[in-house]
Amino acid sequence: MSVRMPPRDEAVLARRDEIVAALRRIVPGEGVISTTREMRPYESDGLTAYRQLPLVVVLPSTTDQVSQVLRWCYENGVKVVPRGAGTSLSGGALPLGDGVLLGMGKFNKVRSIDFADRVAVVEPGVTNLAVTKAVEHAGFYYAPDPSSQIACTIGGNIAENSGGVHSLKYGLTTNNVLGCELVLITGEVVRLGGPHLDAGGYDLLGVVTGSEGLLGVVTEVTVRILQKPETARAMLVGFASTEAAGECVGRIIAAGIIPGGMEMMDRLATEAVEQFVHAGYPLDVEAILIVELDGPRAECDHLIETVSAIAADCGAQTVRVSTSEEERLLFWAGRKAAFGAVGRISPDYYCMDGTIPRAKLPYVLQRTRELSAKYALRCANVFHAGDGNLHPLILYDANDPDELARAEAFGADILRLCVEVGGVLTGEHGVGVEKRDLMPTMFSEIDLNQQQRLKCAFDQKGLLNPGKVFPVLNSCAELGRMHVSAGKLPFPDIPRF
Ligand SMILES: Cc1cc2nc3c(=O)[nH]c(=O)nc-3n(C[C@H](O)[C@H](O)[C@H](O)COP(=O)(O)OP(=O)(O)OC[C@H]3O[C@@H](n4cnc5c(N)ncnc54)[C@H](O)[C@@H]3O)c2cc1C
Repeated sequence: MSVRMPPRDEAVLARRDEIVAALRRIVPGEGVISTTREMRPYESDGLTAYRQLPLVVVLPSTTDQVSQVLRWCYENGVKVVPRGAGTSLSGGALPLGDGVLLGMGKFNKVRSIDFADRVAVVEPGVTNLAVTKAVEHAGFYYAPDPSSQIACTIGGNIAENSGGVHSLKYGLTTNNVLGCELVLITGEVVRLGGPHLDAGGYDLLGVVTGSEGLLGVVTEVTVRILQKPETARAMLVGFASTEAAGECVGRIIAAGIIPGGMEMMDRLATEAVEQFVHAGYPLDVEAILIVELDGPRAECDHLIETVSAIAADCGAQTVRVSTSEEERLLFWAGRKAAFGAVGRISPDYYCMDGTIPRAKLPYVLQRTRELSAKYALRCANVFHAGDGNLHPLILYDANDPDELARAEAFGADILRLCVEVGGVLTGEHGVGVEKRDLMPTMFSEIDLNQQQRLKCAFDQKGLLNPGKVFPVLNSCAELGRMHVSAGKLPFPDIPRF
């Protein structure tokens, strides 16, 4: 594994048998997995470039078991990495050799649905799509829809503050979660928010959403469900250049229109996807936009006319509007399968995730092309254009160490570029291990220390998912008393994992 992780705790490794036995007493039967062969499926998440077998895998099925496991680990100084479905693209669920991997897959029930209050209470291992499936018979749905929604879990979505093609209009996970039950590393169970629209006190739910498994383990989630819009139609618009497509995105938003979704794919991505889903995407253009308009029928018709006019003004070469629900879903099917489809044209891909101000789209796409030439690696662009959330897919061969190194350097340059133009390092995939060492390009040491003080308020011993998010993890005692003068940390080069 080439990524730097906290040093292994040899004392913990030496106590492995005792640790496994203690955890078996808390989660009996098949709830503890300790053989190398059976732990193999857990060695990596969606960031497959890095892998590591955990010390042991524990699969609890009740909040009480989670609480007991965490308390035991806290008292015995053992690290814990929570895991949902393992689709994280930033290495958030990458195990630690001296840590427990806490799989939440058995928390897979929808506990209650309340259409009057428009909420559903679900366990964290329920998949994103399963929430919509549970409420769609009554005309409702759960809005954030990551492309991985068939597999990824609500617990993972909270930890990563995930988004999807509909987040432009309906918000990210943080805008669609109302409450959760959280088990702290000490084993204490706290409730944040609830089935009401506002909660008193500090917005700790907001803090936990996007905290990447570093603050606690989510064991129950209350989500907001929405009524399906009366009409939804998708437009497929082709352009002679990615710059023209980027320009069109900005013009649509500037006209006061917030589409239900607005996604872009460049030629390389479109070619891969079309071979895969046969959605009828135009192959003679450099970029396509998928723009979805939703709402009452009359409003939808009006918006389609307006967007068509803007697209024509931006030089659109082709415009198709879906005429049936099947066709709308087909337009989206390609976009949603894009990452997988890229597997047809490259043995491996490295999916980046940065966000930029929309107006910078044409410039950033141009610079990405230049970087692609510099690193001699192809790059397919598939992204949430409306949100300015880029997902360049860097194509490489993991069997060639030089290609992996070039892919990593190329990806880091893209993220630096996002920050340089006023954007951020991540849009929805989280920091994990992938962007951890780039955090100082965005945050000062004072910023990072303040964020870590928050981590300390939840996890004094730094046992929950260490090695993720923070490039250097200071001890909480040190953060409490350290004197920072003129923004300069004493001994800044000393790793404090
Ligand atoms: C093909 C593909 C497409 C994708 N498309 C999108 C997309 O469109 N939008 C998007 O936002 N993401 C996307 N992702 C990334 C990924 O699916 C999301 O980050 C997702 O939320 C991860 O969920 P998971 O259940 O797989 O979590 P995991 O990968 O298992 O874990 C992710 C993080 O959550 C933490 N965690 C998991 N469960 C809990 C819990 N119960 N309590 C506390 N912490 C927990 C873990 O420690 C880890 O830090 C995509 C991934 C793939 C492979």
